[in-house]
Amino acid sequence: MTKLVFLILITGFASLLNTTSITAVHANEGSYDYTACIFSVIICLNDQLQQLEESEEPANEGFIHSAINQVNSTKLIDWIDNLSSFHTRHTKSEYIENVAYWLKNELQSVCNGKVYFHNFTQIDQGIGYNLKNIICNQEGSAADDNNNNYHPLILISAHYDSRMQDINQTNARAPGADDNASGVAAVLELARILSEVNLKSNIQFVLFSGEEQGQWGSTAYVNYLQTNNTKLDLVMNLDMIGYPAFGLDNVVIEYDVGNKFTTNDMYSKKVGQFIEQIALDYANLEALLHPLGKTDLIPFEAMGKTVIGIHDGGSKQNPNYHSTSDTPDTLDIEYFTSVTKLVLAAILELDELNQ
Ligand SMILES: [Zn+2]
Repeated sequence: MTKLVFLILITGFASLLNTTSITAVHANEGSYDYTACIFSVIICLNDQLQQLEESEEPANEGFIHSAINQVNSTKLIDWIDNLSSFHTRHTKSEYIENVAYWLKNELQSVCNGKVYFHNFTQIDQGIGYNLKNIICNQEGSAADDNNNNYHPLILISAHYDSRMQDINQTNARAPGADDNASGVAAVLELARILSEVNLKSNIQFVLFSGEEQGQWGSTAYVNYLQTNNTKLDLVMNLDMIGYPAFGLDNVVIEYDVGNKFTTNDMYSKKVGQFIEQIALDYANLEALLHPLGKTDLIPFEAMGKTVIGIHDGGSKQNPNYHSTSDTPDTLDIEYFTSVTKLVLAAILELDELNQ
């Protein structure tokens, strides 16, 4: 890969030995509850990067290339077709339970970890809705060691519900191919490929329900994580990645600016810039860095977490957004394959930092 990542890697080792710089970052966290070394490393090293000379290529570049070459367009299309063929995935529809079970089954068939529902009840206008987030927990290869080494938890998420323009049309046709069968398909494909990789990080693949009503699923899940005192280091959310609204060479990376906490902003920006470089190196995609939109990342940000969103820019640009015409044939297969590769490369590079 590039000079940038290699330099982060080598200086990463140096910095991990240099407790002063890591402590300095932690001291600045304010109310931020926890930050893994991977992000401290990125931030601690930023100033040093420019000064270092270019060295030989890192050993992991070939490995990452071979991993991203496994991203299978046919599988991505199949998942998008299947999800879009449900009449609707509206949260209040009669179909949503079947969608959840179907997805749990799919996740089970590809993910190397425990797959389960996170059940929650959402009350809306006096009616209770029993809804399901779907999770696969893939533990890092060294997660059970006894050396007290810290293993970061990275959450890769996408919402699986869909809607029409009128959100009260509960049972109207709403294929939601770009929004967000595309993100769900990518999460499934990432789970499939990463099930064969020995990662050091713990990865949770999470499919949210109820996004369209106002982040119901992600809000409930954040509460659940908080109740269980789960240390979570990064959330990457995929919401609309199949319609190249800004052209085939562009992808939007959303990072956190302000919102509830400002103390976590710099982590998000650094990770965003890190992924920007990966996009270029591994997927030939030029990243447009935008501030966070109204997505499933908002409840995580409100908990102080580091969040990154990846999308095609489509919620404002895709003419099929929230309509019956958001169908698989409007998506660009090569494009969403590239975006999936980018996310995979980002996970692998971030995992490499955790030495
Ligand atoms: Zn969406």
